Amino acid sequence: ESTDVVEMLEEVADRFSFQLEQRTIAIDIDVAPGVKQIMLDRDRIDQVLDNLVSNAIKYTPEGGHIRILAGRPDPQLLEICVQDNGIGIPRKDLNRIFERFYRVDKARSRSMGGTGLGLSIAREIVKAHGGTIHLDSEFGQGTRVTFTLPYQQEEAAG
Ligand code: ATP
Ligand code: MG
Repeated sequence: ESTDVVEMLEEVADRFSFQLEQRTIAIDIDVAPGVKQIMLDRDRIDQVLDNLVSNAIKYTPEGGHIRILAGRPDPQLLEICVQDNGIGIPRKDLNRIFERFYRVDKARSRSMGGTGLGLSIAREIVKAHGGTIHLDSEFGQGTRVTFTLPYQQEEAAG
């Protein structure tokens, strides 16, 4: 289905507006000018975005900041980044973070709820769309998850 990227990202932020306000976490959305309509499975990509934003909220202290960026590093590619300035992930955990049920430090995660499935599902969805996903994090500084999707315009997809 053809989706307006700005609208899609604003709606994600809206779904979390209550939690964001409660935790006094700011969110901003920055979409590059060349990013417009794209063909994608909206429900599945919403699932990816919801998990990334909910993770960012869970692991960012009050007063923190989340940014969602969208760009087109080349014409065939949509790149979306969800970044936060939260607690980050220790380097030793980084290579396991997309595994099913993997959660960093049970103690810090237990209080947050969740099953440790979100990122593995996100990766499956992005892969099924022909895209890639990766995570960068600096312990104590913040986390950034970047995923790409093929930029298929309506015309091209028929
Ligand atoms: P679920 O998504 O199933 O509700 P979850 O959020 O714990 O549970 P994932 O989304 O797969 O599971 O994330 C796995 C683990 O990675 C988290 O438990 C957390 O330890 C770590 N993590 C994920 N995103 C962040 C982030 N933005 N900042 C810090 N740690 C994160
Ligand atoms: Mg999650």
